[in-house]
Amino acid sequence: MTDTLITVQDDLSPAENMSTTTAVEETVADVPNGFIELGLAPELVRAVADLGYTQPTAVQLRAIPLALPKAGGSKDGQSNGYTDLMVSSQTGSGKTAAFLLPVLHTLIQQMAEQEAAERAEFDQACADAAAKGEPAPKRSKRKDPTNPRNFKAPSPGALILCPTRELAQQVAQDAIELVKHTRGLRVANVVGGMPYQLQIAKLQNANLVVATPGRLLDLQRSMQIKLDKVQFLVVDEADRMLDLGFSDDLADINEMTIQRRQTMMFSATFAPRIQQLAMRVMHDGGSSVQKIQIDNPQEKHNNIKQVLFWADNAQHKRQMLDHWLRDASIDQAIVFSSTQIECDGLAADLQQDGFSAVALHGALSQGMRNRRLMALRNGQVQILVATDVAARGIDVPTITHVFNFGLPMKAEDYTHRIGRTGRAGRDGIAVTFAEMRDRRKIGDIESYTRQPFKAEVIPGMEPKMRMPEARKPMGRGGDRFGGERNYANAGGGFRGGRPAGGRDFGGHRDRDGGGFDNR
Ligand code: AMP
Repeated sequence: MTDTLITVQDDLSPAENMSTTTAVEETVADVPNGFIELGLAPELVRAVADLGYTQPTAVQLRAIPLALPKAGGSKDGQSNGYTDLMVSSQTGSGKTAAFLLPVLHTLIQQMAEQEAAERAEFDQACADAAAKGEPAPKRSKRKDPTNPRNFKAPSPGALILCPTRELAQQVAQDAIELVKHTRGLRVANVVGGMPYQLQIAKLQNANLVVATPGRLLDLQRSMQIKLDKVQFLVVDEADRMLDLGFSDDLADINEMTIQRRQTMMFSATFAPRIQQLAMRVMHDGGSSVQKIQIDNPQEKHNNIKQVLFWADNAQHKRQMLDHWLRDASIDQAIVFSSTQIECDGLAADLQQDGFSAVALHGALSQGMRNRRLMALRNGQVQILVATDVAARGIDVPTITHVFNFGLPMKAEDYTHRIGRTGRAGRDGIAVTFAEMRDRRKIGDIESYTRQPFKAEVIPGMEPKMRMPEARKPMGRGGDRFGGERNYANAGGGFRGGRPAGGRDFGGHRDRDGGGFDNR
């Protein structure tokens, strides 16, 4: 794949943007609004201002200009003036708006052009009628879309694919916020677990659809949605899509939307398997794709204090967790577990101890998952005990602490998990508990983040066993794009040495809404 790589060193996370701007307000007044400078539609500029975004983040600054259509169409060698993009950026970098804003901008422009053309046609018809001395033609009545007789399969212009329902819902929510000043642009969410009829009703006239692959294909195959008008396809968290086995579904969706003008892929890394996927789904086999590399795992999360506590056994971990949960500085917290069984057990245990805690994992019904997330957002629940289903996509600024009670399956999920705290310009604390047998996983996380853990002890709860020294983080062998080489693909990571498909933690490993779970 020949391509252009743009690397951004000075990534400003939204948090950093916000703290900088509130600290020096007079300076901010002089700084031109970066969103206006990007040339975005005024409706969108107003919406981002309502959301409190003062300036674009690094990923937005790099991706939006490239994602917007080039003047002059295909003359510049790009497909119809649109550039395919591959963007590597971490959660929390503002990547959702980086793909939503340019797509929404173009949809708004196209709608305005279409309206203007229809108005001109109508005006012409009125003028023609007047010239002939006939009465002016009537405007055609809009059909009631809620009447089943008027059902027309929706054919959205933009399709965003997400690996999990939670992420899809968050992205759809962000899109709805961004179109709040835009008339006539409809956003719909297609995820498994929702009643079909309701989902189909809400899909009517949708211009932008945010979907998980399984349910989208179900609806497409039963002709409830048509994908032949999709112009923009975004694959969010492409790495996770592949982990969850959505490769074949992506290939099918690629075929169904083959007429599209632009493809954008967002992924935590540009690992070789992501590049292969890009070659399959980008125009011209990816020959003209532009790559943007934003994040470096070890530079992230400066606002999140990360600590490690070695434990003798599960009971010791539980005592330390209890100690932490009684810390007065906790507002809300997520406690991550490794398995669904551990998740349910721990939540029940915490409830018994008087904590306001609920469990969230992929085996719960979607309605239940939504209600529990809503209770967390509304502050009705203080502690969410979750599997990695909650590692991405949850954006609740009042989460002050993340606890890794059970370690993640993959080192990169550690980064996603801790990113649930320290949101919206705040600080956060990420506490990891590990037993001796977890030391290899701890080493893998240190290699991935290129940050050694700082091990601490709670006075009176010191481990009795001799615990390992903090390791120097290993470099990643100059593997600029494929950050996973050292731990997952090479088989040297958490799964190394275990039989394929085995139960890594002895319990029911949570596929977190992946595979058929998610549909
Ligand atoms: P994401 O990486 O898309 O998950 O976004 C992380 C968080 O940053 C979300 O809470 C967004 O609402 C917020 N955000 C996105 N763009 C900006 C911006 N330009 N300024 C401030 N916050 C932002």
